[in-house]
Amino acid sequence: MFKPLKWKFTLSIFIAALLVWAGCANISVLPSKKKTSVSKAKSSAESKKIIEEKLEAESKAQGTTYVAREERKKKISDFCKKIDKRFTKYGWGRSKCENYPWNFVRTSVKSDPLIWMNFGDESAKRKETTIILCGVHGDEITPIKFCFDILDHLNEIASNKNKKHNADELKNRLVIVAPIVNPDSFFKKWPSRTNANGIDVNRNFPTRDFNSTAMKIWTNRYKKDKRRYPGKKAMSEPETLFQVNLLKRYSPDKIISVHAPLTMLDYDGPADRHSGGVVGSSANQLLIQMSEQAKGYKIKNYPFFPGSLGNYAGNERNIPTYTLELPSSDNRKSKKFWKLFKDSIHSAIMHEMTKEIDVVHDKSKSGSNSKQN
Ligand SMILES: [Zn+2]
Repeated sequence: MFKPLKWKFTLSIFIAALLVWAGCANISVLPSKKKTSVSKAKSSAESKKIIEEKLEAESKAQGTTYVAREERKKKISDFCKKIDKRFTKYGWGRSKCENYPWNFVRTSVKSDPLIWMNFGDESAKRKETTIILCGVHGDEITPIKFCFDILDHLNEIASNKNKKHNADELKNRLVIVAPIVNPDSFFKKWPSRTNANGIDVNRNFPTRDFNSTAMKIWTNRYKKDKRRYPGKKAMSEPETLFQVNLLKRYSPDKIISVHAPLTMLDYDGPADRHSGGVVGSSANQLLIQMSEQAKGYKIKNYPFFPGSLGNYAGNERNIPTYTLELPSSDNRKSKKFWKLFKDSIHSAIMHEMTKEIDVVHDKSKSGSNSKQN
């Protein structure tokens, strides 16, 4: 009887000592934890303040309205509800818009937020940066769902929930997705191509030929087609300014702009290895790869126009610019389109423009499949 009692006594002393030690350890850890979170909170509050001041100054300089942080939160929440309503109408399910920490600085003509989302490695010194734009023409509705599918895909990868890819793939990469560049025209009862001022925001970029030819081409070639009106002044529209500022802010290595329904893949930018160096060669290789991964989707050299993104970014600034024209704006085909282009888009995001792919393979392909420059 005596022995078990002694054993129990020893054990309880041991447990008590352990508890005291754990308690002490806890006490000694807590203050430093608190200190770290307080200093973090302080520095993040300071950086938020700096960002806000910068945004306010930027808006003032550009003559646009500055929207304060709290107001932005409310606007995004309302905007997401609006998006979900449309998604339900088109049978697309939930957009998951509410789940993303959107960026937003300026608003459309009718005061909807012009949103974008970043995925990947913002702090990396050298990163492959891709900008993806959808909904530039609001009546092309499938590209908008397409961008939300891209967001879903990237979100799965970033949170390691994708079966084929993991978050490491986004290392040294930054992906910017702006899913609804022209919300005013998308949210109309009958969506239109032009924005609320009746201007085509893919003809309103400040290209060098804008002043001399934009109006002439619109009058003579397009017989004043209202759907293609470039506006009297380049970059007169907030939706154009939004796109230009994204390019300035992030200096992308490539741009993917999604439209419908021309059923083709178009490329503007450094032409080939001969005239465009490594980037030209790499960009063309990617073009062929994107087509091949989408069952040989048609590559076509579509001309660029005064005030178009292809002209502004691809032609004048040598940024490889890919225009993916989906086959239609039929909302019922959205799932099919995403399935067809998922691999192409993934490869395009991961592709590094400074790296040339197998040159021998490149040459053998370019003889038969590349677009005619
Ligand atoms: Zn379009």
